[in-house]
Amino acid sequence: MAKTRLNDKQSKKQKICVIGAVAGGASFVTRARRLSEKAEIIMFDRGPHVSFASCGLPYYVGNVIPEESELLMVKPEDFRGMYNIEVRLFSEVISVDRKNKQITVRDVQKGKEYTESYDTLVIATGSQPVRPKLPGIDLPGIFTLRSIPDSNQIKKWIKDNNVKEAVVVGGGLIGLEMTENLTGLGVSVTIVEMLPHVIPFFDPEMAVRVHGNLKGKGVKLNMNTSVKGFSLDEASHRIKVMTEPDKKIICDMVILSIGSRPEVKLARDAGLEIGDLGGVRVNEQMQTSDVSIYAVGDVVESRDIVTGEWALSLLSGPASRQARIAADAVFGRNRTFRGIQATAACRIFDADIASTGVSETNLKRYAKRGNIIPYETVYLITPNHADYYPGSSMIFMKLIFSPQDGKILGAQAIGAGGVEKRIDVIAMAIQMGGTVYDMEEAELCYAPQFGAAKDVVNIGGMAASNILRGDIPTVHWDDINFSENYLLDVREADEFKEAHIEGSFNAPFSIFRQYLDKLDKDKKIYVFCNQGKMAYFACRILLQNGFDCVDIIGGFRTYQARERLKR
Ligand SMILES: Cc1cc2nc3c(=O)[nH]c(=O)nc-3n(C[C@H](O)[C@H](O)[C@H](O)COP(=O)(O)OP(=O)(O)OC[C@H]3O[C@@H](n4cnc5c(N)ncnc54)[C@H](O)[C@@H]3O)c2cc1C
Repeated sequence: MAKTRLNDKQSKKQKICVIGAVAGGASFVTRARRLSEKAEIIMFDRGPHVSFASCGLPYYVGNVIPEESELLMVKPEDFRGMYNIEVRLFSEVISVDRKNKQITVRDVQKGKEYTESYDTLVIATGSQPVRPKLPGIDLPGIFTLRSIPDSNQIKKWIKDNNVKEAVVVGGGLIGLEMTENLTGLGVSVTIVEMLPHVIPFFDPEMAVRVHGNLKGKGVKLNMNTSVKGFSLDEASHRIKVMTEPDKKIICDMVILSIGSRPEVKLARDAGLEIGDLGGVRVNEQMQTSDVSIYAVGDVVESRDIVTGEWALSLLSGPASRQARIAADAVFGRNRTFRGIQATAACRIFDADIASTGVSETNLKRYAKRGNIIPYETVYLITPNHADYYPGSSMIFMKLIFSPQDGKILGAQAIGAGGVEKRIDVIAMAIQMGGTVYDMEEAELCYAPQFGAAKDVVNIGGMAASNILRGDIPTVHWDDINFSENYLLDVREADEFKEAHIEGSFNAPFSIFRQYLDKLDKDKKIYVFCNQGKMAYFACRILLQNGFDCVDIIGGFRTYQARERLKR
């Protein structure tokens, strides 16, 4: 029978202290125990819970998850019983003495302080929601959401104050999830967002597509608006939210969801290296600038695998994976963390949204700083499964790729089903350094309920590959001169009648060949349809008939999204 061979680090007894007992901390300790039966492992958390599902908090507030206990994934006693790991709750680590390798812990219930020595220390302190020092920020009824006690306070406030109207500040994932859950409780929600659109990590013309879904559920949107402060409305004793541009919104409750910052006080005070984004700097084995101290999860900065930039992840998946890498490193296994790529998903009412990799907005930002990554984009609109099978719905996708070698850089998608599956496939392709040609060739599941013989992923790859192979010249709306360029709209006549670009010419694709002798061969023709497919077909016909033409990437829908953002 094969014997498990232990290396020196696994067979030696060492004492490991872990600060933070949720995604990163809990994943670290369990992996560590599987690698070493000998290690003494103590995990501290200042809060009352260990390993709870923070991602479920908005749904607990909304009673979709009815019981608090359902958020608790492992009980403290299970850590002792199943893993021989000591968990100390209500135990805040207040300082790290690197020289003597010890931490000072405060028992937050009894107020007592004591020290604990370590051979290895792991910092998994997570992040804290941003709570800016605005006038009135400490008024009762203004909440952030990070913990189970936060959610219980929000639930109590809603009940005790019969909350009817709420303002959610920030249209990111947590803001949107809270919007959905509050709406489900019968609360009327107004979102206040500084950007022109919700979902800050999406490109504007994609994100703006969910505005309709939100408005359809009665959510009021105040985009391009920032909060200046809060006060108590004298007449109604409700909260007054003051905004810039000048506006006052009266409500019963405010949820602040304007981002999170790595909780680095301990690390900073201990003199560990902190990066420009405010996270602890670690190497590929999650080791900090002190070889005896590791850090994982929201508290660290990691390299983005697409751009090579330092980035914060603030997501559960990377926290768990980093924890596993760190545990392996502590016990002498030479694995390295590949980096992060911002793969995230969210459901907001009937829209699923997901993305992976880098956005065009960030590529432009990095380029301004000198990190120029050439890119091209395609947009597609494709059914999530064979449209002859009942229940299919459209997926809108934007794919960003390198025009040099076709490497996939990022993807964003919105739809009513099957969105996260496509983004997951592309996420894996990105991690493997995949190209749009790989997407084109990917063999994916197909039965009518799940996909199509040409899946959304394949079609994205095909659309991009067509451009790279020179089958179709393309142009972006930004590069069009609306008064001079000859715009050819190949959408159907009824669609053209409903809305069109002033001065454009309509040649419906269903009868497109009838129009060939009406088109001007001496002019460059700028062709577009709704999203790109019919324009591509039309361009192929035109090119083979001697016309000079280009396909406008993103089509009429992207044009409309751009117009909406200007309003
Ligand atoms: C409402 C909400 C929804 C989310 N939804 C998703 C989602 O759908 N998908 C996703 O991937 N991610 C989601 N996240 C993010 C995800 O929860 C975090 O990325 C993940 O929990 C990070 O794990 P972590 O271990 O680094 O930090 P945390 O989970 O924040 O744990 C850190 C712990 O450290 C403790 N701590 C901090 N300082 C000390 C100290 N000095 N002494 C003792 N203890 C200390 C804290 O009390 C805390 O319990 C969501 C987060 C929130 C708040």
